[in-house]
Amino acid sequence: MIVAEKLYLKPKTIDEAIRLAKKHAESFHYLAGGTDVIVNKFQGNEESDCLIDITDIEELKQIIKRKDHISIGSLVRLDDLKNHTEIKKLFPALLEAAHSVASPMLRKTATIGGNILCENRCVFYNQSEWWREAVGYCLKCDGEVCIATGGKKNCFSKFVSDTAPVLIALNASLDIVDSNGDQTLALEDIYSGDGMKPRKLSHAAIIRSINIPTKEKQSCVFKKLRPREAVDFSSLTTAVSKSESGKIRVVLGGVDPKPILVEGTIKDNKEELIKQAVKKARIIDNDFYPRLYRKEMITVFLERSFEEIFK
Ligand SMILES: Cc1cc2nc3c(=O)[nH]c(=O)nc-3n(C[C@H](O)[C@H](O)[C@H](O)COP(=O)(O)OP(=O)(O)OC[C@H]3O[C@@H](n4cnc5c(N)ncnc54)[C@H](O)[C@@H]3O)c2cc1C
Ligand code: SF4
Repeated sequence: MIVAEKLYLKPKTIDEAIRLAKKHAESFHYLAGGTDVIVNKFQGNEESDCLIDITDIEELKQIIKRKDHISIGSLVRLDDLKNHTEIKKLFPALLEAAHSVASPMLRKTATIGGNILCENRCVFYNQSEWWREAVGYCLKCDGEVCIATGGKKNCFSKFVSDTAPVLIALNASLDIVDSNGDQTLALEDIYSGDGMKPRKLSHAAIIRSINIPTKEKQSCVFKKLRPREAVDFSSLTTAVSKSESGKIRVVLGGVDPKPILVEGTIKDNKEELIKQAVKKARIIDNDFYPRLYRKEMITVFLERSFEEIFK
């Protein structure tokens, strides 16, 4: 049953949003494009009493070129990234990743901040209430055990953001505001690795901007595995970057509750870097594709990415 919202709030500033968040403590959710939150609400997986719509906060909508980085406001829509000349020139892989999210209509609403925070997924969880009841609820929806692993007491729901792997490969950081003030964190550091609570941020935290360094030239290759070219979430996302000074970052999405990061240099053995990435990924059978196929595809995608990046 869909219950009508008890409260819908629309602050005009970050301070006001955080004040409202504190007042409504754990029973609220921020709303940006709403393409993740609202769908989860309809499926009965998101039950907060209050939605705090942050889309009137103008300062979150800007893209600013600074001395040593580009700062992308968290409310910038995925579809609008392609209109920014600098991003188009410096980070084509980010545009490719953004373009791979959902469908054209959804990308006109979905934001980059919402994308890096979109909820983890699992074929046993992202189903209707009736479906989940019939199968027997799993750990993530008040059940006793993880169904996908046949009874484990941990949740391995998959991290599915498509822009985050590219942003991590490009060394992006986040400017975050919460009731304790401002802080800057490396993007990879906000993810917990626990499928039940995939992020380490406080509930009231607002992402102000995503910052990509521009001091050093970086090239990046993005790949995504999914049954259909549009609408489908990722079964595996990979991003490999190489900086001018020879640093390599390999990032995986879709195969673990958090993004997997392996760092190296151009002098390292590529097969070893690939092996490390495969070893770190805790892939389970919670996707439309079988676990072993997704595992094999990590090596295939990464080998192709290295070929492209060293061409
Ligand atoms: C049919 C369909 C297909 C999809 N396919 C994909 C896909 O292929 N790849 C993919 O990555 N996603 C996909 N999505 C999920 C979703 O559309 C995207 O992840 C989108 O980018 C989410 O952005 P949003 O602005 O709509 O987020 P929202 O739904 O508004 O929010 C998502 C989360 O982020 C939080 N949040 C948003 N902005 C901020 C902020 N500034 N500060 C703090 N918290 C914030 C919200 O509270 C919420 O927890 C799909 C969704 C649908 C319905
Ligand atoms: S991984 Fe297990 S606990 Fe987590 S959502 Fe899937 S079935 Fe549920």
